[in-house]
Amino acid sequence: MAWGGKVMVKLPKNWQPDPEQMALWPDVSGNDINGLDEAVFRRPRHVYWASEPDSIAHGAVQRWFYRRNDNPAFARERAIRAEVQARKLPDLAQVPAPGSPGEWSARIKAEAALLGAEAVGIARIRPEWAFEGHEIGWCFIVVLGIAMDYDTMQAAPEQEAGIEVVRQYTRGAEISKRLAGWLREQGHDAAPEHGPMAGEMVLLPAAIAAGMGELGKHGSLIHRELGSCFRLAGVLTDMELAPDAPDEFGADGFCTNCRICADHCPPMAILPEKQTVRGVQKWYVDFDRCLPFFNETAGCGICVAVCPFSRPGVGANLVAKLARRRERESREGAEGAVKAG
Ligand code: SF4
Ligand code: SF4
Repeated sequence: MAWGGKVMVKLPKNWQPDPEQMALWPDVSGNDINGLDEAVFRRPRHVYWASEPDSIAHGAVQRWFYRRNDNPAFARERAIRAEVQARKLPDLAQVPAPGSPGEWSARIKAEAALLGAEAVGIARIRPEWAFEGHEIGWCFIVVLGIAMDYDTMQAAPEQEAGIEVVRQYTRGAEISKRLAGWLREQGHDAAPEHGPMAGEMVLLPAAIAAGMGELGKHGSLIHRELGSCFRLAGVLTDMELAPDAPDEFGADGFCTNCRICADHCPPMAILPEKQTVRGVQKWYVDFDRCLPFFNETAGCGICVAVCPFSRPGVGANLVAKLARRRERESREGAEGAVKAG
């Protein structure tokens, strides 16, 4: 069975970044900013997608990305997102609508689905998810999975795929804003949180805690239904909710023996082994290798497009196969324990 996506990368193996971009490259490595090889935990630092590019070392490179990918389709999506961001949230209703944490969690998930989110999970916020110098003034996050169109993403790294990514970030912004507004109308304070610009916290660990999937070798999430073909958005709130549990369905182990994304990555940025990053062992993408290619190809996207979990039908089969394997292993383990006893 062909598990990889249909993406065919037609780029020279010895791809070299544009010297104009590299002339803007800062002296500091993005991997150092990310804390690669740091054995002790610390909070993350903004490395890219800063709303104020001058506040980060790679700000000039970020501005170059925008100049390079300046076209009407991108501009249109960004204009819609700016309009969504500028829209005022409804006033907070004075009397909070009643309901238990479990009831509210179910209501929120139903409302998020109604608004168009393809996946929803809830996590209690941990202070260590905040970027250095920031504090998160909320207790819970509702994490939203916003699906990208698989067939369109097969165009990666062509611009068509980059536009699909931006389009789905815009849809995520709209859904998170509407969901936060809906909660405020029920008397529960809430605020939207969405990409691509980095806010006060990293969304990835929150999404993992909220049961939205596992971190893949390509540095993106793998969701049991959406694969890696989705973007994240969220809603921050103070109300007490019922958090979900992480969803470990075997993607992490599968990545150990799979190298499809690494083989398709033109600048060879996807590292074959887990790395220590700020005190945690995890899959890691070499920022300094990925970013120049990412910037020159309107956001690349090859690794999420080729991941077998992203492919409709194939991803579901893999999840089922991994579940059967786990069941068999636990049965064999139990039988072994009985024999040994
Ligand atoms: S392509 Fe393979 S190795 Fe890469 S994230 Fe997907 S499953 Fe993991
Ligand atoms: S996004 Fe980065 S890591 Fe993924 S394939 Fe492109 S260059 Fe490689």
